[in-house]
Amino acid sequence: MGQTIVMKFGGTSVADAERIANVARRVQREVKAGNRVAVVVSAMAGVTNQLVAQVDSIDRMPDQAEYDVVVASGEQVTVGLTAIALHKLGLKARSWLGWQIPIRTDSAHAAARIDAIDGDQLSRRMAKGEVQVVAGFQGVTAEGRVATLGRGGSDTSAVALAAALKADRCDIYTDVDGVYTCDPRIVGKAQKLAKVTFEEMLEMASSGAKVLHPRSVEIAMNHRVRLQVLSSFEDKPGTLVVDEDEIVEQAVVSGIAFTRNEAKVTLQRVADRPGVAAAVFGPLADAGINVDMIVQSASLDGKSTDITFTIGRAELPRALEVLKAIKRKVKFDRAATDAEISKVSVIGTGMRSHAGVARRMFETLAKNGINIQAISTSEIKISVLIEEKFTELALRALHTAYGLDSA
Ligand code: ADP
Ligand code: ASP
Ligand code: MG
Repeated sequence: MGQTIVMKFGGTSVADAERIANVARRVQREVKAGNRVAVVVSAMAGVTNQLVAQVDSIDRMPDQAEYDVVVASGEQVTVGLTAIALHKLGLKARSWLGWQIPIRTDSAHAAARIDAIDGDQLSRRMAKGEVQVVAGFQGVTAEGRVATLGRGGSDTSAVALAAALKADRCDIYTDVDGVYTCDPRIVGKAQKLAKVTFEEMLEMASSGAKVLHPRSVEIAMNHRVRLQVLSSFEDKPGTLVVDEDEIVEQAVVSGIAFTRNEAKVTLQRVADRPGVAAAVFGPLADAGINVDMIVQSASLDGKSTDITFTIGRAELPRALEVLKAIKRKVKFDRAATDAEISKVSVIGTGMRSHAGVARRMFETLAKNGINIQAISTSEIKISVLIEEKFTELALRALHTAYGLDSA
């Protein structure tokens, strides 16, 4: 009978002709085992960054729909090359761009969400032994425009396709051999997790662990897609993303993530009266700018206060435009910005039943002389904002403090 599988290969896995040939051999193995295969590929490593830089060199605040036309182009090259490499091995294969399938998205350009995928044609072709090679990261809006899913979005294309095809598995092949307790490139003592829960993986991904795109985890969780992360270069078991009841011994903290992608804005001496927060954050939301952490200090004189918040670093220019537009109405002295910050998060479902997790975090950072600029928490996550230069020190110290270091 065989299985229906979606195999996704990221940028480093398709970085050159030799690596694409390696991808083709892996696909061939699955086809030979009698499986029906759809492959999702990213652009070659570095290509999407170059495309973004090209857009930036003309306009740092471009029309988002045209930005998408440019940055989606990297994947067009890799689907074609991958199909050609499969042909060379004697396999039947066809490439597909988002609009050809179609993968329908909403019109939130540069951060679009997938609404629906018509998998019928692909399924029929797969049943006849043809490998379907699908461009990750892109889809088409109701207006017929190309849309992209946000950086790292090919994972989401793969999982959504797996859900649409009712695939038995979605395998995410990448340049690490699984999900680790922390980014193994920064914390050498990070350990590979054999299993991680959907919830933890979602928090890790949303907190910056780019090994999976956050939305991909959400879709896998909601559509019960069997998702695993594994190496495209080595044959060894990866990490399986599972339901909580599949994990016997739950660590209090199972992962630590970080992001340098945020920027901090402090509105100084904002009038302290009802409606101010709404007057600031309403227009930011209307401009499509996501606000992450918010800290409002107590007013000393009862008249004014400081409001600090974080947003995506790339959105800083747009946010400042919005703030300029509302300054006369809201009244504040100035908007001070700081892009040299990072957010460090500790994550674990065990936090629900254990006390003292936050305390250990704060004590560890204090012992290392790291000042905390803002704090936010959820049921299974604690995040702190710190000076960017302390990121590595904080990650390693916390990794040790929570007993995550490998032997
Ligand atoms: P791809 O191009 O295959 O999508 P990405 O660069 O997007 O690959 O994601 C893989 C990278 O994610 C790894 O090289 C690693 O540096 C990083 N990463 C961050 N956090 C983790 C983690 N907890 N476990 C594994 N990798 C992580
Ligand atoms: N090529 C896109 C990016 O670099 C999508 C992806 O790699 O998942 O963001
Ligand atoms: Mg990725």
